[in-house]
Amino acid sequence: MSAPTDAQRMEKIVSLCKRRGFIFQSSEIYGGLNGAWDYGPLGVELKRNLKNYWWRIMVHDRDDVVGMDGAILTHPAVLKASGHVEGFSDPMIDCRTCKAHLRADQLVEKKGVKQCPNCGGKDFTEARQFNLMFETHVGAAADESSIAYLRPETAQSIFVQFKNILEVSRKKLPFGIAQIGKAFRNEINPRNFTFRSREFEQMELEYFCRPEQGMELLEYWKEERLKFYDNIGISRANLHVLNVPDGERAFYSKGTYDIEYDFPFGRQELEGVAYRTDYDLSQHQKASGKSLEYFNEETKERIIPHVIEPSAGVDRTVLAMICEAYAEDEAPNDKGAMESRIVLRLHPRMAPVKCAIFPLLKNKEALVAKAKEIVALLRPDMAVFYDETGAIGRRYRRQDEIGTPFGVTIDFETLGEKDPGLRDTVTLRDRDSMKQERVAIQDLPVILRERIR
Ligand code: ATP
Repeated sequence: MSAPTDAQRMEKIVSLCKRRGFIFQSSEIYGGLNGAWDYGPLGVELKRNLKNYWWRIMVHDRDDVVGMDGAILTHPAVLKASGHVEGFSDPMIDCRTCKAHLRADQLVEKKGVKQCPNCGGKDFTEARQFNLMFETHVGAAADESSIAYLRPETAQSIFVQFKNILEVSRKKLPFGIAQIGKAFRNEINPRNFTFRSREFEQMELEYFCRPEQGMELLEYWKEERLKFYDNIGISRANLHVLNVPDGERAFYSKGTYDIEYDFPFGRQELEGVAYRTDYDLSQHQKASGKSLEYFNEETKERIIPHVIEPSAGVDRTVLAMICEAYAEDEAPNDKGAMESRIVLRLHPRMAPVKCAIFPLLKNKEALVAKAKEIVALLRPDMAVFYDETGAIGRRYRRQDEIGTPFGVTIDFETLGEKDPGLRDTVTLRDRDSMKQERVAIQDLPVILRERIR
C-alpha cells in the first residue's frame, strides 16, 4: 500500500527550505550539481541536533556500544570482499526517445505499458547493471593499482576494524559499534529533493551477538528505532514497518525490516534494520586471512559473531522531520486580526533555534539591555536568537517558520514600571499553542533546559 502524494505540499517545503536557509542546491550558481545538497545555517543545526541525539541514545546512553569514525576512501579489497565491487548495482536502461538513463524499476506503468517518466516514451534499451560506487585514484599514478572507492556505506569500516575495537574496548557479546558519516552512491536518478542523493550521511550501528540471539535482537532493535523516531517528533501514524519478504532480502539476511515514512511524494524507506548474520565478518576473514573471531573466555569457544544493523539516513530523517513539522494555520497579528502563518512544529529537542529573545522596542535602552542579559544567560545551554526589528507579531512569525519552539519578550513590566511585583519577569510564548506565560528571568534556564532536552 502506498500513501497518497501531495506535490504541492512538497513544493512548499522545498521552497521554505531554500528561503529560510535549511537546504540549498549544491553549486547552485553554476547550475547545480545533481544529487548533491548544501545545508545552510539552519539546516546544519537541525542535522547536528539529529546526529547528536542519535549518538546520545545509541552510544552515550548505553554500556554496550562504542563509536568510531572511519575513512571515506576505501581500499578496493574491502569492497571486493563485501560484494560491492561485484554486485552493488542497479539495473539501468536508456529511453531511446529522450536518451535519459533510467533505473529499470522506476519506470511508470500506464495501462500495463511501461513508460519513460520524463517523456512518456516506450522504447527502451535492454537493462544492464550499473555499479553505484564512485571510483577514484589514490596517489599520482592513475592506473588499476591506485583505485580506491568513496564508501557506499559506513558499515564496512566497522567490520574491518572489528578486531581492533574489540581489543581496545574489551566488550563482551552482545555489543555494538556505531558510526555516523558520509556515504556516496552514484544513483541513476537522484530525486525527491534530498531523499535520494549521491552524497549523503548515514547513522549506522553494527550490533554483534551470538547466532542464537540474532532474531530476538532484530525485534529489539526495530522497536528501539521506532521509539527513537517518536522521540524526535515523527508520529507513529506516519511510520510503517515493512517486513521484507524472503526473496527480496539480501541473500545473507535472515530478516530485514524497512522503516518507512509517508513523505508527501509517497511511502519511502527511512531506515533498514537488517539481521546480516555472520556474512560480513566471514567475508573479511576469508579475504584478509586475518582472524575476526570472538573468543568466549567462559566456554573457550571461538565464533564469528552475527550482526544486527540498524542503518538510518541522516538526510532522509531531516527531510522527514521537516515534512512532518510543516503546517499552515492562523495566528493573530499585532492588531489582533487573524493571519495565516507557516509553522514548523519541530520537536523542541531538534529545533535549530530553541529560544528567540525580543525586546518589545528596539529604541528603549533598558529593554534592549535586559534582552541582551537574557541572551547571555541562556546561551551556554542552548541556541538562541536575538531579534529587535519589526512588530512583535512579525518577529514571532519569522521564528514560527523555522520551528523555534519558544519566544521570550521583554516588556515594560520586566522593568517593573507598571507593577513592581512583575520586575524581572518576561513572557514566554509557546510556538504551537501560542499561549504566553509570565515567568521569572532567573527560572528561564531551568524551564527551557527541561523542555529541549
Ligand atoms: P533505497 O532502496 O532507497 O535505495 P537502500 O535500501 O539501498 O535504499 P540502504 O543500503 O539500506 O538503503 O542504506 C541505509 C539507509 O541509508 C537508507 O535507509 C537511507 O536512509 C540511507 N540512504 C541510502 N541511499 C541513500 C541515498 N541515495 N540518499 C539518501 N539517503 C540514502
